[in-house]
Amino acid sequence: MKTREWIILVLIITAASSFTFSYFFSHPQVVTQTVTVTETINIVPVPPDGEYEEGVRELLRHVMEWVESRRGLSFKEEVDVVILTREWVVQHWGVGSLNLTETRLEERLLKSLFMIPWDFNLTEFKVGRAGYIVAASAGNTVYIVKEEFNPDNELRAGAILVHELMHILQGEYFDLPDPSTSDEENAFDALIEGEAGLISSQYISEHGEFGGGLSEGDLDPLTALWLFPYIHGRPFVEYVHEKGGWDGVNEIYDDPPRSTAEILHPEKYSEGWRPVKPSLPPEIGGEWRLVMQDTLGEYFIRQMFRAHLPSSTANMSAEGWRGDVVQIYEKGDAYVMRWKIVWEDSEEAMEFLEAFKGLLREVDANQASANSWTTEMESIMVEVSGAEVLIEIISPPMKPMEEAINISNIQNS
Ligand SMILES: [Zn+2]
Repeated sequence: MKTREWIILVLIITAASSFTFSYFFSHPQVVTQTVTVTETINIVPVPPDGEYEEGVRELLRHVMEWVESRRGLSFKEEVDVVILTREWVVQHWGVGSLNLTETRLEERLLKSLFMIPWDFNLTEFKVGRAGYIVAASAGNTVYIVKEEFNPDNELRAGAILVHELMHILQGEYFDLPDPSTSDEENAFDALIEGEAGLISSQYISEHGEFGGGLSEGDLDPLTALWLFPYIHGRPFVEYVHEKGGWDGVNEIYDDPPRSTAEILHPEKYSEGWRPVKPSLPPEIGGEWRLVMQDTLGEYFIRQMFRAHLPSSTANMSAEGWRGDVVQIYEKGDAYVMRWKIVWEDSEEAMEFLEAFKGLLREVDANQASANSWTTEMESIMVEVSGAEVLIEIISPPMKPMEEAINISNIQNS
């Protein structure tokens, strides 16, 4: 199976309990507005085609039995199938489900950290992602995209159903808390997508050829960020499954991983390592408005570096992450971004600092002092204290005098 083919197969987008289509940063605590797809799902967009539908339902019955026997869980309720068209999905799950406020802030964050160019349109990118959906599930219903789903192709169509049916079982048997940060959400998504990915890969190897998974190295950093649950979820669940079988996987739900660091390093998770929540940086008063607060995590840092530095540097410099908190303040068009990152020790903090300086060199930032840089758009200040790093980014860029005052304010508070 070629990579392209596999990518389409893997991009089966859903969550076990609710439909949230913003993948990363979808839980900035300050501005949250979740758009659910169930609001628009009532429209039945495909004209009835008896023969096709019968084929789908027959394959569904067969695959349900297979999933029950392999996963060792029985469906508690009947499963329904709704057939959609590509056009409808892009319209309703692309354009129709975007949270524009959230997307604007994500875009600001990604641009501010040099991950995407200043003229990049994140909204377009997100709408485009809906074009990759081949199937989804919510409650006890599986949604399939007709153009992507040929019930006569038992291998491919069957694997898609296995994946979605696993999500339905997850909804029936397991509970995950509401994620409070993007990093946590990515970890939860990696668990459910990893489990669905593992069982559907077992189905594929039983029924034909297995084409391997998605590789981070083949993807640009933004796409790699979006696809984190599909790239790194399966190896994580596989690790637990190899040690403790499906019972072991069931147990993850009692104490799920809460960071991408645990997904990337399953041995850490199984040894009981958990992330820390750093104390918040001091509030900025006056007319500045806090518009976003989040935790970005090891994997985000890795992609930030990957955008400008070799992958090996990116991986090593992001490792050793223990926790972080990022905040964005706005005042008119001006903004301040503060990002506090806690590392395992001061050496890890220094390793991050060196990589971050390398990144700033790559984007041609002008070094203004030992700890500060400027670009056309921003001033960037970095402070390291023991195992803690504080990055402050201000736009529009400040004059050297104001900068000095600002740094001393941070240090004194
Ligand atoms: Zn899925």
